[in-house]
Amino acid sequence: MAQLSTDVLIVGAGGAGMYAAIAAARRGASVLLLDKGQVGRGGATIMAQMTVAVALGEQEPDSVELHLQDTLNAGRGLCNEQLSLLLCDSGPKRIRELAQWGTRWARENGHIKQEMAPGHSVKRCCYVDFLNTGPAVAATLRREVSGISSIRRISNLAVVDILVRDGRAMGAIALSLVSGEFIPIQSRAVILAAGGLTKLFQRNSASANMGGEAYALALWAGAELVDMEFVQFFPIGHLAPRLVGMDPIMWDPFRYKLGGKLLNGKFEEFIDRYGSRDFGKYNATRDIAAYAILKEAEAGRGTPHGGAYLDFRHLSEFQLRGAFGPVIDRLVTNGIDLTKTPVEVGPMAHYHMGGVRVDTNMQTRIGGLYAAGEAVGGANGANRLSGNALTEAFVFGECAGTCAADQSDKLPSNWDDAGARGSIARFTELRAAHSSGAPTPIALQAELQKLMWEKAGPFRTGDKLSAALERIEQMQRQLPQLKVGTEGRFNLDLQDWFELRAMLTAAAAVVKSALARTESRGAHQREDFPGPDDSFLKNQVLELKKGELASRWVAPVRLQRN
Ligand SMILES: Cc1cc2nc3c(=O)[nH]c(=O)nc-3n(C[C@H](O)[C@H](O)[C@H](O)COP(=O)(O)OP(=O)(O)OC[C@H]3O[C@@H](n4cnc5c(N)ncnc54)[C@H](O)[C@@H]3O)c2cc1C
Repeated sequence: MAQLSTDVLIVGAGGAGMYAAIAAARRGASVLLLDKGQVGRGGATIMAQMTVAVALGEQEPDSVELHLQDTLNAGRGLCNEQLSLLLCDSGPKRIRELAQWGTRWARENGHIKQEMAPGHSVKRCCYVDFLNTGPAVAATLRREVSGISSIRRISNLAVVDILVRDGRAMGAIALSLVSGEFIPIQSRAVILAAGGLTKLFQRNSASANMGGEAYALALWAGAELVDMEFVQFFPIGHLAPRLVGMDPIMWDPFRYKLGGKLLNGKFEEFIDRYGSRDFGKYNATRDIAAYAILKEAEAGRGTPHGGAYLDFRHLSEFQLRGAFGPVIDRLVTNGIDLTKTPVEVGPMAHYHMGGVRVDTNMQTRIGGLYAAGEAVGGANGANRLSGNALTEAFVFGECAGTCAADQSDKLPSNWDDAGARGSIARFTELRAAHSSGAPTPIALQAELQKLMWEKAGPFRTGDKLSAALERIEQMQRQLPQLKVGTEGRFNLDLQDWFELRAMLTAAAAVVKSALARTESRGAHQREDFPGPDDSFLKNQVLELKKGELASRWVAPVRLQRN
């Protein structure tokens, strides 16, 4: 059996994973950077076409303190303030470092250009023109990574288990998506940089690989999760017509620049029915817009795809070109002429504020097990400011890579061959037990996504959440019997099975946490508990106890203030 060995193993090669790899390598560690897709080309980073929030102060005066204050305000009292501070404090260094490595941030008079975005008190969001931020940064990081000989990159390997011995991570088991083999990987430290979980929801802005695997792997390894109820739903994600190669949440900046009418399926403006005034432009806040769109659709006044129309037809082509630049031509290539056609938009799962519980070294409570990027919970509390997610990916990636390398240097390997073989034997047995008459894993994935959207989506109730949890637990019991083809190479059923297994664990964590938080705060909205309740100014921590999810409440981590 092939076996791999490294100082630092990184699970997931998006912005956080690649940054972690570079940081670990510059501390002298050997690095194995794995991705279940293509290294540097999967996940959310490459899809993020808009902005990165950092207090560079290039456009107007700004400070780390102000960025921190805005982040804490958005987080509605639940941020881990030490993590938020790390994010705000190190963000500028990472952006300047990326510039040195070749990222061409948009500039004006020699300064990095920064734009305003909701919730930020000053112009703070930098970007690469036009709608090219994520792809440009991913290209820079791929180039850096490929220039460092101590980083080995492997695509199409999905990590399915983190191996832990005596409370310390000793490596992982990965499934080769090509050969169908399980591959043991020996390492002194493991960094979970496998991104978020928005694929759990039928409507999402995610790539195929965002099924919450980091959270499941962390729980199974004995680490804790925090605030899993806080999934951010973006109100005007693109629903139709089909948009290829463009960011489904791209409409937001154009609404700041131009306004855009939000109309129901009968072409009526409707926002003012829901306690907000739109004044002929689209300027309602995100939560009201999401609520109003879903309620109109529920009342039978939605668009054909169950959302609302976003209409720019009152603007001239000249005005549209001024704001959208070459994006207008990319839209035309997709068959969308904004002077003639409104687009359909609606709320969709977009980002996860919750995640793996770590300290400011990005270390979990398991020795040698770290997390980075969207996998980490806590920095953004109950709601995230736009642009903070990419900053988090770069900053936490750099921090995790540095700390994991420094720690792995001090520790001998605690590899246990029998432990690794045991894990592989368990998976092989499970695979053999699958029955031919049962549903396929992909069928259950689709059912889970529908269930999560309908029962644990933007607006929740105790009844809907309880029904979701019951069905998720049934599906977990069904797992061993699902139909999985027997072929070795390119066995898609097998990949889907492992992904479903993780998705179910992550979904159970979200639903269980959402049930316990009987208030509405930030991104967690309970129709049966519509207001905030300050007795819930606490973080919810989840762990597995004897295979069952157990939760407890803890006081948020605050900064010492004079
Ligand atoms: C459409 C879209 C637009 C966005 N726009 C913005 C924006 O403008 N500004 C902003 O700040 N944020 C934005 N975000 C959020 C931001 O992009 C993400 O939070 C951030 O990129 C996450 O980076 P990451 O490295 O943690 O995860 P990702 O970039 O998602 O990378 C995770 C990687 O892990 C891999 N992986 C998953 N499971 C496994 C496994 N079991 N084994 C091996 N590999 C695995 C995946 O294939 C993937 O490559 C956007 C997100 C989306 C989806």
